[in-house]
Amino acid sequence: MAHEVVLIPGDGIGPEISRAMQRVVEATGVSIAWNVQDAGAAVMETEGTPLPERVLDAIVEARVAIKGPVTTPVGSGFRSINVALRKHFDLFSCVRPCLSQPGDGSRYTDIDLVIFRENTEDLYAGIEFSPNDSEVQTIVDAIVRSGQTPPRPGSALSIKPISEVGSRRIVEAAFAYAECAGRRKVTAVHKANIMKETDGLFLRVAREVAASHPTVAFEDRIVDAACMGLVQDPWSFDVLVMPNLYGDIISDLGAGLIGGLGMAPGANMGQTVALFEATHGSAPDIAGKDRANPTALILSAAMMLDHLGEHAAGSKIREAVRTVLHEGACVTADVRHTQTGSSAGAVGTQAYADALIE
Ligand code: NAD
Repeated sequence: MAHEVVLIPGDGIGPEISRAMQRVVEATGVSIAWNVQDAGAAVMETEGTPLPERVLDAIVEARVAIKGPVTTPVGSGFRSINVALRKHFDLFSCVRPCLSQPGDGSRYTDIDLVIFRENTEDLYAGIEFSPNDSEVQTIVDAIVRSGQTPPRPGSALSIKPISEVGSRRIVEAAFAYAECAGRRKVTAVHKANIMKETDGLFLRVAREVAASHPTVAFEDRIVDAACMGLVQDPWSFDVLVMPNLYGDIISDLGAGLIGGLGMAPGANMGQTVALFEATHGSAPDIAGKDRANPTALILSAAMMLDHLGEHAAGSKIREAVRTVLHEGACVTADVRHTQTGSSAGAVGTQAYADALIE
């Protein structure tokens, strides 16, 4: 029987990498009934919302979705549908493996990290007030009453919620994965020296959870030092767990260690729904030019196949990616450019997918 999967192609490079991903998944022989659902700016114009109910209903029904990137307007306009989907389905665990591939063009080799990013809280929750909002004065009054220094007049405010429940479940997910996958260490990343309440809570919970998983080593690093360490000696890390915003930033750093954003897959996991997507965005600078690297979305699809119990198909895809990158004749412009400083001789998105299929 076919697995039902909701596919949100997204915009920018989304539709082209989604097509490549679909073709590669179909070539494994696994039967997928794709329920294609559009969302984003174009849908906003025709349906009045970037994330219509029909998309949410389809995901409730299928419980598994894969999505291309969706553009979020900067500064003003609608809020991110990526964040909205994570919140709506409580997809609290964002899992982003960063694994070197032979021929990925990176100056680093043998990188094997897995980032666990809390996906529903933190400054990323988007609880914000503009300087003119009447609520700002109420918040400033409360800050003054608490004896803390109020922000400068005319400030915009963002609220950073970090809860015990939210912290515990993401750290538990990181340790459960580490135990199951035989990984050696979990590193909690935070800034608890400055944000003693929010990141302090996250760190306290991480230490408690670590104590109940004695077979996996535990350490914590302050986020700035973690960034330096990841650039200087990424091999000293293994599994990393962190609040939402640090996870967003460190995921891109991790992608930089393995050849770039075109290589970094991901999964957003909740209790009932799993949504797979690449780390990268809609790359408007190369959209529609057949230049995008679909590897990140294709490897996200391999994670999805594992989730569906189709481990052989997931492995086949990972093996195809390894082989084609290792051979090096058929690579997309980003990889060729990282390797040689020029994209001469690179192949397009669909030709690369053809090579994987072959
Ligand atoms: P981006 O990830 O889209 O692009 C950053 C750089 O990486 C660009 O130079 C781009 O060409 C390159 N790049 C990204 N993916 C690539 C790929 N698969 N192959 C080759 N090159 C690739 O980041 P951005 O430009 O900051 O964001 C563009 C839009 O995407 C924004 O609206 C942002 O909000 C959105 N975004 C969406 C998601 C998501 O849907 N989950 C995630 C991140 C950003």
